[in-house]
Amino acid sequence: MAYLPNEVPGPRPTVDDKVFWDYCQQRELRFQRCTACQRFRHPPAPVCPQCRSFESQWVRAPETGVVFSFTIVHHPAHPAVAAVTPYNIVIVDFPECDHARLVSNLTDATPEEVRIGMPVALIWETAGNGMIVPRFKHMKTERGNSE
Ligand code: ZN
Repeated sequence: MAYLPNEVPGPRPTVDDKVFWDYCQQRELRFQRCTACQRFRHPPAPVCPQCRSFESQWVRAPETGVVFSFTIVHHPAHPAVAAVTPYNIVIVDFPECDHARLVSNLTDATPEEVRIGMPVALIWETAGNGMIVPRFKHMKTERGNSE
């Protein structure tokens, strides 16, 4: 079962992020990288914010990241999530990709367990609209915790 109920609206790709979501449908996390200055960027955009180049490529991201920030949602802003509050929303940072960041969820952490700096691993889930979406799991250390 997915972290969020099927009634939660899934992604609806736009002209700017269609390629990102197309790769996700193949269970490949890729970030856009400027071919002129080599900087990664996310969310996808037609122009590099660093050098204004229109040229870019899609580079496979590591399957691990770090929680940059998070929030715990207690108030259901959409009726579909009323039954699953409190739930987390995390911003996952990818240091190897110029700190490109992805908004997602940690599927296996209680609200009390989520921490900034927590190492996380990529997993895939299917949203209610059938789109395959990147989610994350807490990476346990050898000692069995995240500290
Ligand atoms: Zn650039």
